[in-house]
Parts: sequence; C-alpha cells; structure tokens
Amino acid sequence: MPNQEEMVGTAHRDVGDRTAPSWWLGRSPDPTAARLPAGSRLDGDVRCDVVIVGGGFTGLWSAIRLAEADPGCAVVVLERECVGFGASGRNGGFAMTMVGRSLHDLVRKVGPGPALRVHRAMVQTLDEIEGFCRAEAIAADLSRPGLLTVSNGPEQDVRIRQDLEAAERLGLNDLRGVSAAGCRELLAAQGMRCGHVEDAALLVDPAALVRGLAAAARRRGVRVLERTPVEEVRVGPGGVRALTRFGSVRADRGLIATNAYAHAIPRLRRFLFTVCASITLTEPLTAAQWAQVGWERRMGVEDRRVMPHFHRPTPDGRILWGGRDAPHSPIGPDPRRDRDPRILRRLEETFRQTFPQLADVRLTHGWGGPVAATVSCLPRAGWLRGGRLAYALGYSGHGVGPSALMGRVVADLLLGRATERLELPLVTRRAVPLPPEPLRGAILGMAQRALQAADDHGGARGPVGRLAVRLLR
Ligand SMILES: Cc1cc2nc3c(=O)[nH]c(=O)nc-3n(C[C@H](O)[C@H](O)[C@H](O)COP(=O)(O)OP(=O)(O)OC[C@H]3O[C@@H](n4cnc5c(N)ncnc54)[C@H](O)[C@@H]3O)c2cc1C
Repeated sequence: MPNQEEMVGTAHRDVGDRTAPSWWLGRSPDPTAARLPAGSRLDGDVRCDVVIVGGGFTGLWSAIRLAEADPGCAVVVLERECVGFGASGRNGGFAMTMVGRSLHDLVRKVGPGPALRVHRAMVQTLDEIEGFCRAEAIAADLSRPGLLTVSNGPEQDVRIRQDLEAAERLGLNDLRGVSAAGCRELLAAQGMRCGHVEDAALLVDPAALVRGLAAAARRRGVRVLERTPVEEVRVGPGGVRALTRFGSVRADRGLIATNAYAHAIPRLRRFLFTVCASITLTEPLTAAQWAQVGWERRMGVEDRRVMPHFHRPTPDGRILWGGRDAPHSPIGPDPRRDRDPRILRRLEETFRQTFPQLADVRLTHGWGGPVAATVSCLPRAGWLRGGRLAYALGYSGHGVGPSALMGRVVADLLLGRATERLELPLVTRRAVPLPPEPLRGAILGMAQRALQAADDHGGARGPVGRLAVRLLR
C-alpha cells in the first residue's frame, strides 16, 4: 500500500508503573507480568480481517462480538502492556446503565426517544454482562446489589430530583426515590439528604472481568497479543496496517480502542480530553466495623457532585473510595498522576468525614488512571477513515457497562450491518469539537477548577463557576 497510505500515530509516551497500576491488577497475579507465555506477543508479520488496537473492555468486547457475529472473521488485538492495563483494570467496578453523566443529562442532550433507547439497551447490556460471565465461568465477583445515588447538598438535591423526573417522563419505574432516612437505612454515612436507587446496576472486579474477556476472546479464536505497542497505523485503499517494533498486522479493517491514549491521534483529540481519576482503599474491615456502617446490601454508592465520589465494598471486605478531584491533563494520560499524594489526601479527607465511625481504619492503597472525556460526556463510535479504520471511546468515566454495548456497535459497524444499534446517539450524535491550543487547555483547566470549587463549596462561585454549572445542569 504505497503512497496513498495515511498515517495515524498511536504511540503514547511513558506509561508509568508497569507492575501494579491498581490494587485490582495486583490482587490476582497477571499471567503475563513475570514471564510472557509463548505466542502472546506479536512476532513477525501477520494478516487478518480486523486488527484492534487496545486490550481494554472496548477492544475485547468488540473482538468477542466480531468473532461471534462472523466466526470466519480473523481478529487480532494488540495491547501495549497487559490486558486491562488502562482504565479497565483500574476502575471502581461499577457497571451502570448510565451513559454520560446521568439519565436527566442524557434526556437533555439527545431527547426522550433516543435516551429511552439507550437506557433500554444498557439494561439489556448489564444482563448480557452477567449472563456472559456465568456462561464463560469468569470469576469476576459479580454482584447485583443495586446503585444508591445520594445528594450531599442543595445543588445535588436538584440533580436527584431531575433524574427522578427524567425517569418518570420516560415511563421508567427502575429508579426509586429515597428519603434521607431511607438512605441511612442502607448505609450509615454522614451528609446524605436524599437519593435514588437503581436495581439494575452491577458490581464487578474489573481486572478479573477484563482478563476473563481476553480468555473468552482467545477461546473464540481471537489472537490477543500483549506487550506489543502499536507505533503507527497506516490506512490506504488496500486496508489497514498496524506497525510495531516486533512486526506488523495487515487487515481489511481496524479499530482504535485506546480510549484516553487516543490523545496521541490529533483527529480524535479534537473532541476528546483526558482527566485523571483516583481511588483509595481501606484495609479489610472487621465484622464489628461493618456493623457500624450498616451496609447490609453492600450496594455501590455514588453522590451527585459534578465530579462524584463513589464507594463500594470489595469482595474481600474493604471499602473502595474514589472520585472527587479529576484534574484535566493537557498531555493525555500522565503516569505522574497515577498516584498523586495531594489528590489521595483529599480523598482520605472526605472518606473520614463520611465515615467518622471508621476513624481507626487505615487506607492502604491508592491509584489513579486516565479517563477519556467528551464535552457532552457521551461516548462515541465512528469512522476515523471511512469503511477502514473505526474508533470507539470517550466514556467520560462511565465505561464499564457501556463498553459492552459498544462492542456490539463496533461489530455492526465493522461488519457493515445496518442495525438499530447504529441509530443510537453513540454513533449518530456529532461530537462537540474543542478549540485548538492554547484556548483548549485554558478553557478545560478553568472549567475543571470552577466545577471542583462548586462541588467543594456546595454551589457555584463567580461567573465562570455559575456558567459551568448551568451548562451541566
Ligand atoms: C480510577 C478510575 C475509576 C473508574 N471507575 C469506573 C466505574 O466504577 N464505572 C465505570 O463505568 N467506569 C469507570 N471508569 C472508567 C472506565 O474504567 C473506562 O471507561 C473503561 O475502562 C474504558 O475502557 P477502554 O477499553 O475503552 O479503555 P482502556 O481500558 O483504557 O484500554 C485502552 C488500552 O489501550 C492500550 N493502548 C494504548 N495505546 C496503545 C498502543 N499504541 N498500542 C497498543 N495498545 C495501546 C492501553 O494500554 C489500554 O490497555 C473509571 C476510570 C478510572 C481511571
């Protein structure tokens, strides 16, 4: 494919801590960390039908759905580190119906009809994740305790009410309002004023899930190759070529599934920006300490700040406490942010305020990871180069559930199947472009600081804060 080939540089600089980017990934041994099993890295030049760059939830669900939809389709996944190295192995493990920021926000952005179709697709997707784990014997500690979303201030009361109104408008009865007393029956935490519960939500061990998906993909004949950074993708009339220092993969079609790392691709960076999210973890609680928090249903909990806190029990009896600050990173994924002591300290501060009865419990782990966000907060799939190279990314911190739906969308797109899924706003809605630098960095930095201050002070401050909060309401 000489001359007419177009180059798409995909390599991102330094990746940071290769050994244990999260407690989840370090908890069960990474089968490829110590010694690479034969055949798990690209070696030489390979030919296939579809090449996927990125071995996270998006890349692996896409590979699985492609292999299922067309068993004759030869699929190769190229992952720079190990599967789950990106956000997929570092997240809170909340698989929610939420696409974007909230149900209210989805209705506001895409209208009630499309919002209802997305919501229904997500309810079905969560059932599919559960069914898939059962059928494939993926031991991802999956549970369905439901999601409690709480308000900790007047601004958040409004958002809780808006979510409930949006559900009513769509004729959904799967979001139930809860009073302050109702919240306290579910969890003995400080500051909860009201909330809502959604039963469909799942909790998973994300590292176990992503590794289970890689194994399931391999069982379907997909070649999942790790420790293989793609340095460049070339697209031409003859197809796609992914170039690495160990060899190349030539394919008819390709998928960029590198989420925040797609910052390296200027055309995707135009509507995508990176923020760094963080998580802390307590030591395992004793039975007496669990009794003090009264968290009998062990459900996932999120508040309704713009940049929310989220917390959940882990399978081995710890509390995972994440969220709060999510600073914009102008350079894309930044490993220096993976364990930012200031952010982890601020997370500990709100953990202590929320659970004063756990003053003696130690926080033993902390980590962070890159989140690919869009202005609308909606993820997006589309063509980077018509009919040849597609992308699927931009979950804005809520990709555990939606990436499974995206896998089906990608399979439809790459196999050229005209399905209803391709009519979802994830595909049809135009991405809002960001201005070029230096305006881009200045606007994103300012908006992020204003929103953080609004969250911390229980309301917007100054004209920028008021404008940013109004735009998000
Ligand atoms: C701290 C944190 C908490 C979160 N909590 C939640 C949550 O509780 N619920 C929720 O729904 N979402 C959560 N998210 C977001 C969620 O994790 C992501 O939306 C989701 O994992 C995205 O999956 P992905 O496969 O698209 O991207 P990733 O998992 O980031 O996968 C991209 C992969 O591409 C690889 N790659 C990059 N460049 C190259 C290259 N050049 N060649 C080859 N491979 C490459 C990377 O190594 C990486 O493995 C959280 C995110 C973070 C960081």
